[in-house]
Amino acid sequence: MSYDYDLFVIGAGSAGVRSARMAAATGARVAIAEDDRFGGTCVIRGCVPKKFMVYASHFSETFEDAVGYGWTLGEAHFDWPTLIANKDKEIARLEGLYRQAVSRHNGEIFDDRATLKDAHTVHLVNAKRDITAKTILIATGGHSVRDIDGPGGECCLTSTEVFHLEKLPKSIVIAGGGYIALEFAHIFHGMGSEVTLVYRGPKILRGFDEDLRDALQESMQKKGIRLMLNTTFASCRPEGDKKHVVTHSGESLIVDEVLLAIGRRPNVAGLDLEEIGIKCGINGNVIVDEYSRSSVENIYAIGDVTGRKELTPVAIHEAMCFVKTVFEDTPTAPDHELVATAIFTQPEIGTVGMSEEKALEFGHSIDVYKTSFQPLKHALTGRDEQTLMKLVVDSVNDRVLGCHIFGPEASEMVQLVAVALKMGATKAQFDATIAVHPTTAEELVTMRRKFASRAP
Ligand SMILES: Cc1cc2nc3c(=O)[nH]c(=O)nc-3n(C[C@H](O)[C@H](O)[C@H](O)COP(=O)(O)OP(=O)(O)OC[C@H]3O[C@@H](n4cnc5c(N)ncnc54)[C@H](O)[C@@H]3O)c2cc1C
Repeated sequence: MSYDYDLFVIGAGSAGVRSARMAAATGARVAIAEDDRFGGTCVIRGCVPKKFMVYASHFSETFEDAVGYGWTLGEAHFDWPTLIANKDKEIARLEGLYRQAVSRHNGEIFDDRATLKDAHTVHLVNAKRDITAKTILIATGGHSVRDIDGPGGECCLTSTEVFHLEKLPKSIVIAGGGYIALEFAHIFHGMGSEVTLVYRGPKILRGFDEDLRDALQESMQKKGIRLMLNTTFASCRPEGDKKHVVTHSGESLIVDEVLLAIGRRPNVAGLDLEEIGIKCGINGNVIVDEYSRSSVENIYAIGDVTGRKELTPVAIHEAMCFVKTVFEDTPTAPDHELVATAIFTQPEIGTVGMSEEKALEFGHSIDVYKTSFQPLKHALTGRDEQTLMKLVVDSVNDRVLGCHIFGPEASEMVQLVAVALKMGATKAQFDATIAVHPTTAEELVTMRRKFASRAP
């Protein structure tokens, strides 16, 4: 049977664009459909615009810190519309590059919503057109949820809208305790907003190493970010040009904006997946095997829609494995082990490998090395900020199982530590590495004193 294309990709985010581009580069006939903007979550409403805001929010502390180094600055003024306009210009440029990446390799682009009609047929909703393909790739990503326990979710922002606010809110309530909520709490705090974080659990950052969770939580409180734990929104309603939030703990908060960062779900609505035999998990995520193949033989799924590890580099890695498997005759399963990740709070978190708790859960006997200190820079600024570094080591074979950093440039440091861990580095090899001085990172190779030994 002949098909219109060898590959049809649904969704032009990090996963879809990389797959389309690489498959087309092998000579395959490729088409891709996108019903919003090219680039997807990461480029348009995720990692990239967020990082611009993170950079913007850092300046307030930098200006304060400069005084200890002899600088006298005039009154600083922050202009939100300038940041948004400059950010939008750069995002538009990147969007163009993503399009070119596909078209340069003769991939065909459809600016349309695609649904599945059968195992080999995609339907373009606006064009009202059916297209056939030998292989179909679902790379539709995910979206932020709005379901609060009570009414009013629709009057809240999610991370999608927050990048387009017309003005900087003077006060904001953020719901959530995961990395997106925490990053925005620091972004708005750094820009001068009064920030309250409402989280249903007793401690932020569920699933991360306990020491990191404690360090970040303490640091946020010290900065003046108000934390309301063990509670959720009972309701939210507009009140004039403000929003009125009532929590289940009985607090009433009147603020300029409310941001929900309470989770994300896969974009599968309307794709008619189950009708054609594609199995989905309880959150709607497409269930795939180790090669990203769905329960329908010629249909694959990668990226956030599979709910495996919702990070851009993981989506890109899965894309490259998919192309190798299907178009380069080299079955390659994505490797989800030892994925380093960062949280762009102030200071940052960088983490790779197992937390102390995970290592014990997986049956490792461990030695824990950790240190907490004031970074040298703050000896002159007087800022009361601690850096935390921690290594979780297998006490049987000396392998470093996890590295957890809370401090300036943690994201940059942990990327390199990840290489060592991927190579199976032992604590003795960390110790044998000569330090770069004076740096923060040198502490990673000079932690000699065992803090604790634990058995599972
Ligand atoms: C605020 C925020 C910050 C983040 N920060 C980071 C970070 O710092 N580092 C990191 O690694 N990750 C970060 N992420 C996660 C990262 O953005 C995602 O993991 C990544 O974008 C997933 O890529 P994807 O291709 O799977 O999905 P997406 O990028 O979401 O792309 C899916 C695309 O499919 C399109 N689509 C959906 N349905 C259809 C359809 N039926 N027809 C046509 N098109 C369709 C969508 O419009 C979208 O463009 C962040 C996410 C958010 C929300």
